[in-house]
Amino acid sequence: MKLSFARLPTPIEILPRLSRRYEREIFVKRDDLTEFISSGNKIRKLEFLLADAVRNRCDTVFTCGGEQSNHARATAHLCVKLGLKPVLFLRESQPEQNNNLSRRIRSFFASDEAEWKYFKEAVNGNLLIDKLLGAEIVFVSQQQYAKIDEVFEEYKEKYESQGRKVYIIPEGGSNALGALGYVWAVAEMTNQIDLSQIDAIYCAVGSGGTYAGLLAGLRFLGYETPVIGINVTKREAKYFVEKVLKIVDELAEYGIRVNVKPEDIKITDDFSGPAYAVPTEADVECIKITASTEGIVLDPVYTSKAFRGMLQTSRRGQKVLFVHTGGTFGLFAQAHRFMEL
Ligand SMILES: *Cc1c(COP(=O)(O)O)cnc(C)c1O
Repeated sequence: MKLSFARLPTPIEILPRLSRRYEREIFVKRDDLTEFISSGNKIRKLEFLLADAVRNRCDTVFTCGGEQSNHARATAHLCVKLGLKPVLFLRESQPEQNNNLSRRIRSFFASDEAEWKYFKEAVNGNLLIDKLLGAEIVFVSQQQYAKIDEVFEEYKEKYESQGRKVYIIPEGGSNALGALGYVWAVAEMTNQIDLSQIDAIYCAVGSGGTYAGLLAGLRFLGYETPVIGINVTKREAKYFVEKVLKIVDELAEYGIRVNVKPEDIKITDDFSGPAYAVPTEADVECIKITASTEGIVLDPVYTSKAFRGMLQTSRRGQKVLFVHTGGTFGLFAQAHRFMEL
């Protein structure tokens, strides 16, 4: 039913110094340690999704994401390990925002426009790993990405006319089958910590599957612990409430029947920053502080925004659990945000 690639259980650690500083107990579920090349949260979903691909005798896997997609990188890695061909549809990134900071960074790293363009577009971070793994990469424009299902169908026809059998994994692996990975993770956590004593569990929300799995898993196992999702995208929280409800509903197909109401889904928009994958100065600062005080390295796209959201929305005296969903490779692609180190 599920493949077994992740190194489980991942530990739960307390952060002693930040707990003292913020006067609350901060625990971290170290899902940045699920693996190395396929590390992060996506591997838990992919263990279910790729089992389905293998069961259906597919030999080619399509998925999509941003240019620095952690999900695409993890998919590529596990496909290689299974002897499947990964095809990654990556959305071309937005043109650089032209503010003061970016000008300052630009002049630090590059003497002219061409040099800067080269620096920015260098194959780095997740994209470097995708290339090393031999993944086929199809860059799609933002307009095409908005209709990615049509793009998938068009390419699927092409591949299948060449005798291949294609399995399509949606953005972030976020459907009910993928979310089972986080139902499983909740079961894993019940052996590590008393979840009934935790005031809230926090995670980043990018495509909603992690949140849906955590919430459904908790309710399924009889815990009322709130799950607070920090939306790191420019989609509205309302979009995710609907998506999470749909995923939770579809989990019934796999025997996970729970009663979740829209008001149980707590997702905040307040920490999404200037754009998806663009951290604020406060997020950059949060990465530095967490690394230098606790040795926990957050990423610039998801976990820095989520961690900051957790610090700001939790209260003194509480006991909170942060799910560190990984993303470390994405840091290297944004090294220019850390120039004053
Ligand atoms: C994808 C991702 C998330 C968000 O998870 P979703 O299930 O897509 O909401 C959080 N953190 C990291 C590092 C990710 O790569």
